[in-house]
Amino acid sequence: MEFSVPIEPDDEGYLGRECPECEKYFKIKGGTGIPDVPGCHCPYCNHVDGHDTFWTKAQIEYAQSVALHEVSRHLLGEMKKMERRPDRNAFISIGITVKGEPTPIARYSERELEERVTCAACTLQYTIYGAFGYCPDCGVHNSQQIACANFGNPPFKKYQLEVEFS
Ligand SMILES: [Zn+2]
Ligand SMILES: [Zn+2]
Repeated sequence: MEFSVPIEPDDEGYLGRECPECEKYFKIKGGTGIPDVPGCHCPYCNHVDGHDTFWTKAQIEYAQSVALHEVSRHLLGEMKKMERRPDRNAFISIGITVKGEPTPIARYSERELEERVTCAACTLQYTIYGAFGYCPDCGVHNSQQIACANFGNPPFKKYQLEVEFS
């Protein structure tokens, strides 16, 4: 049996991700960045792998619980069909009652991360811990971008010296 369980993004459209290498958490916004990008860059350690390897533990647990819930619900349904009342006219008769609930679903919510970044190179919107990281889509490090944002100008501007001779 195979189940395909949809994983929904959070209210703002961000999907939680977890690096299989360093196990750190980040989020990427669907519909931004490179369309159909084959792999994902970890913004912290720059590990690159397929998107399927970046599910968070909570997402995997949720998907497994949804699958289990479906299986147990189906099984209970099948067993319910065997339910019967005792036959009053028979000399010996046994009634069967099936009781039980399908296994519960392990719901989760994505975490809030302070630092929101829009990649200057590929326009992907992502959120990370701390200010600096690699873009999950194109792998460009955002250090220069952050420096630009902090100074309001491209960094080379502040190194320009104006010299006047008189
Ligand atoms: Zn990593
Ligand atoms: Zn990018």
